[in-house]
Amino acid sequence: MIDATSVTIENRNSKIENPPLSLPDLASWSFSGTALAVLGQPIKHSISPAMHNAALADMAAREPRFLDWRYFRFEIPPDALADALRQLHAAGFHGINLTVPHKTLAFNCIDSIDTAARPAGAVNTLRRTPDGWEGFNTDGYGLAAAVRETLQCELSGMDIILLGAGGAARGAAVECAQRGCRSLAIANRTASRRDELCSAVGALAPDLPLRSFDPAEPPRDLPRGALVINATSAGLKPDDPAPIDLTRLGRAAAVYDMIYNPPQTPLLRQAAALDIPHANGLSMLVHQGARALEIWTGTSVPVDVMRAAATAALNAH
Ligand code: NDP
Repeated sequence: MIDATSVTIENRNSKIENPPLSLPDLASWSFSGTALAVLGQPIKHSISPAMHNAALADMAAREPRFLDWRYFRFEIPPDALADALRQLHAAGFHGINLTVPHKTLAFNCIDSIDTAARPAGAVNTLRRTPDGWEGFNTDGYGLAAAVRETLQCELSGMDIILLGAGGAARGAAVECAQRGCRSLAIANRTASRRDELCSAVGALAPDLPLRSFDPAEPPRDLPRGALVINATSAGLKPDDPAPIDLTRLGRAAAVYDMIYNPPQTPLLRQAAALDIPHANGLSMLVHQGARALEIWTGTSVPVDVMRAAATAALNAH
């Protein structure tokens, strides 16, 4: 049985124990507060519960209505996602975050999608409606806020080289196009996925100079001074290669890697060696999470508390 007492939460010092749950746990769900959750596979390393529960504790100190809000995590395989979403709705959950591999799958199994999220074809945040879930994508917002905060870059007016064509890259590409980047070049090892993303962005922004290429063979005429964004998962594992060799691009203005664990990837190590400003994905995680919490709570949220809790949870890992 899952109830409030089965979850140890010491938010004041960011020490949070929030065991990963699975679908069978919902059969005996008895938590009576307002429940939020992240679904993914694997999920055990997610630091989202630490970040959100710290924010909720801070908000509850000022607004008692948040005293019974808690954020859980569920290990859900892709073939169980639709069933999980039905069961979470029946159990009264108020909001859901989706991580790998659910963002594009969920897009196809919910009825209502925020107009800004539609072009991305991927959702990472769901808000309860009377009949089901409404989907949002806060990854693009998180990316824009993160590059502003860590690299002092605006997506608007920038030449962007985007690495990857998966769920995160889709959100990033749409955000770059909607914010009016100067040009967008998409690199992905699987040609069909990069071409498909290129077509989708082209339909959304017909006047945007847009191209796609194989990261093993970068074209020679890519713009110098671009912002390079890594939205591939190359770098997550210790022996992963860098998703591109930065010396084969015109000198970049800055490099942003969405990966935050490990904090230093081969791509970021090369950026450091070349003296190019760079940052990892922790800031994006914080800002996409903050935007999701705003959507669920309808109020402003303590971004600094979320950043501190995420940093502490990562260090504890
Ligand atoms: P997907 O599985 O949807 O996409 C994975 C992408 O990585 C594809 O483009 C894939 O290319 C590429 N890729 C995987 N392995 C390699 C490799 N060895 N070499 C080159 N390319 C590779 O994942 P997501 O888009 O959801 O996530 C991508 C990354 O972004 C993850 O590391 C995730 O942790 C991070 N992320 C971070 C966020 C943050 O808040 N900081 C938010 C969202 C994501 P191909 O098509 O050829 O298979």
